[in-house]
Amino acid sequence: MSRDWTKEEIQAASKAMKAAGHMSYEEVCAELDANEKIQRFAPLQRKYNWPCPRCGRWAMNSDPVRNALSRRAEIYICDQCGIEEAMEDFTGKVTPLSSWDIAKQADWPLGAAEAEDE
Ligand SMILES: [Zn+2]
Repeated sequence: MSRDWTKEEIQAASKAMKAAGHMSYEEVCAELDANEKIQRFAPLQRKYNWPCPRCGRWAMNSDPVRNALSRRAEIYICDQCGIEEAMEDFTGKVTPLSSWDIAKQADWPLGAAEAEDE
């Protein structure tokens, strides 16, 4: 049997998670939102030339597979970001998906691409 969490229970659990060094509930939600946006965008990388979804720079090779494959999501990123992710794995300090350029900007090229497909 399951029941929905109350807002107070979520806040308490979120606080406990954060205190224990994990992501808070809000941060988990932000990561899921960012990941969903990244997954929706990924197939478009094969159709058009885009900026790097992680840093936002126009530094992508026009052939998607010649870029770096992210270690965080199934998407191609520029070579510089590929190196940064490798360094992050080494240091253990990972940039959250919600800090990626694609996640921070509501009007990231994704909106334009969807409009173009209609
Ligand atoms: Zn990049």
